[in-house]
Amino acid sequence: MESSRAPAEKRVRVDLGRRSYDIRVVSNSTSGFGAFVGEALRATWTGTLCRSALVVTDGNLAALASFAAYPAALEDAGIAAGVSILPPGEPSKSLTQAERLYDDLVVRAADRHTLIVAVGGGVVGDLAGFVAATFARGLPLVMVPTTLLAQVDSSVGGKVGVNHPRGKNLIGAFYQPAGVWIDTSTLETLSEREFRCGLAEVVKYGVIANESLFSFLELNTERILAREKNALEHIILESCRIKSSVVARDEREEGTERAMLNFGHTIGHAIEAVAGYDGPFHHGEAVAVGMVAESRLAERLGWISSDIVDRQVKLLGLIGLPVQAPGLDPEKLILAMSRDKKNRLGRIRFVLPHSIGNVELTDESGLTDVRAILATL
Ligand code: NAD
Repeated sequence: MESSRAPAEKRVRVDLGRRSYDIRVVSNSTSGFGAFVGEALRATWTGTLCRSALVVTDGNLAALASFAAYPAALEDAGIAAGVSILPPGEPSKSLTQAERLYDDLVVRAADRHTLIVAVGGGVVGDLAGFVAATFARGLPLVMVPTTLLAQVDSSVGGKVGVNHPRGKNLIGAFYQPAGVWIDTSTLETLSEREFRCGLAEVVKYGVIANESLFSFLELNTERILAREKNALEHIILESCRIKSSVVARDEREEGTERAMLNFGHTIGHAIEAVAGYDGPFHHGEAVAVGMVAESRLAERLGWISSDIVDRQVKLLGLIGLPVQAPGLDPEKLILAMSRDKKNRLGRIRFVLPHSIGNVELTDESGLTDVRAILATL
């Protein structure tokens, strides 16, 4: 829900009682960032006592001219800002890099009022968030997501963590930020492939909760691919609204609400696991294939007609995302799915569509159905 502040201010409120916070969406501006951070901090127990911050980023972001504006804005707001720069890429989401950040905090004599600001994609956000959750049992955290995936997904909702050598995201916590600052213009420098991968998650939000977002994507694909400011703002705000309302209903994934965000991910995660995390499919690409395959499963169960599948295939194709992943061993995919966290009593559970905008978590499909669908990948 947007607040009643000035109309130019685009905000989404994440309603979590004492842990509530704002997501602010701007375009090409850091003016207001210091004030936003101050406001976010005042809403936490830290109040006005924050005088120092550690800005965590990666080497790609630190090299961009626009990066320096964040520490500068903090300094202007009376918060002395140090910077820690991580090597870019998934391997940085590790306990080794977490330890490096703990060291940086100790060297800077950080206390419980020291703010962590994560400027980067999901890797920086998950790692810096994990350090914020654990150093001194919790430091205030502000997210500044710079990939589309981080802006519509990973920066919102409080899942933070690092990978274990034997499993992704095995070590982590639920830890909500004090605020999320999204500047759509940061996406100008994002690679085409990363941008399209982020769009896979936006398509997912349309299918799980909002038919008009899905239609907007269909009608405005060219504007979005051209990264037009108003189109980006719209899809980011709508995605954040959907994610925050799901998170508000099921903050710690204890019910079934948060599982809805997993549409396309049961088969998508299996594709990533079998093809290899450094393999041919990036996360968003595997999710795109997964959404189509899971929709075909819903069609096989008689939940939807083929036109619902066709709309997704068409949209994902226009975006430039794959809709098939041939050549993967179906039994290996089933084995990978059998480890999915949504499973209950040994049955694989899927989030399947009843229509565009309405999904349900189900174990209705048997292995025969799943095998039939995997044969079409
Ligand atoms: P990423 O953080 O690795 O960023 C992708 C690449 O883009 C990196 O090389 C980065 O340096 C570069 N980059 C980032 N912003 C840029 C910009 N504005 N301009 C140019 N280059 C830029 O990848 P990601 O896709 O953002 O995040 C993936 C991670 O997010 C995974 O570890 C995944 O597990 C996690 N994730 C977490 C959640 C959650 O709820 N916490 C949800 C989804 C994904």
